[in-house]
Amino acid sequence: MQVIILGSGSPLPDPGRAGPSTLVRTTVGDLLFDCGRGVLMRTAAAGSSAGAFRALFLTHLHSDHITDLNDILTSRWITSFAPSPLTVFGPGGTAALVQATEAMLEPDIGYRLAHHDDLQWRPSSNVTDVESGVIFEDGEVRVTAAPTDHAPVRPTVGYRIDDGERSVVIAGDTVPCAGLDELCAGADMLVHTVVRRDLIEMVGLARLIDVLDYHSSVPDAAQTAARAGIGTLVLTHLVPAPAPGTEQEWIDQAATHFSGDIVLAVDLLTLEVTA
Ligand SMILES: [Zn+2]
Repeated sequence: MQVIILGSGSPLPDPGRAGPSTLVRTTVGDLLFDCGRGVLMRTAAAGSSAGAFRALFLTHLHSDHITDLNDILTSRWITSFAPSPLTVFGPGGTAALVQATEAMLEPDIGYRLAHHDDLQWRPSSNVTDVESGVIFEDGEVRVTAAPTDHAPVRPTVGYRIDDGERSVVIAGDTVPCAGLDELCAGADMLVHTVVRRDLIEMVGLARLIDVLDYHSSVPDAAQTAARAGIGTLVLTHLVPAPAPGTEQEWIDQAATHFSGDIVLAVDLLTLEVTA
């Protein structure tokens, strides 16, 4: 199993970091987790495409994690040669979001159906709102969801992907919580969104200070990884984006609490999930 960080950024546009999104390449195909800004550009660079996604999993409906859902629906549709519904899983509200996105695309759907004689079907999707438990099983691959804590944003979920003997957890945005601990127990890798509490407090801007109470800091994520016996901790969704030369600070803050491997994400970082 392979993990590719498609976007390591946050809501703040950054020339080098796309919005939050992670591709997990499994024995049954490519599973996409969240779909932030620029996801299909990074997907192309990773050698995949909207048509190749086995399923899309959303951790929550914050805009930065879903900005490019419309691009995925459209691109999958117009590059297909037969109807190919997109399978989507996400927290409560996901089915309504997908439906609203398809409604937003109605003019474009009309233009293309009228223009292309060989395109005789609409974009479509199979959406399941999920809470907890095993939500996807195919071959050796099993995806398990559990509630996370990103309050006041509710509901939110994290995911664990098991492929044979290997396992990776996609935390999404959350503070440390029992649901995430449960997913992480004994997993090989944890991909965790983080913010730098020290830097945000130094900036002191109220709009930024607000993000501290519903995200994990670097030490928070490291402590979650340590409690669960994680092998490799991947820090992503970096707020603020690391200034060049400060990358080691992030690693050091995590290393104070966690003795496993620590990786600071950049876009298109590709990691083999190993024991
Ligand atoms: Zn969020």
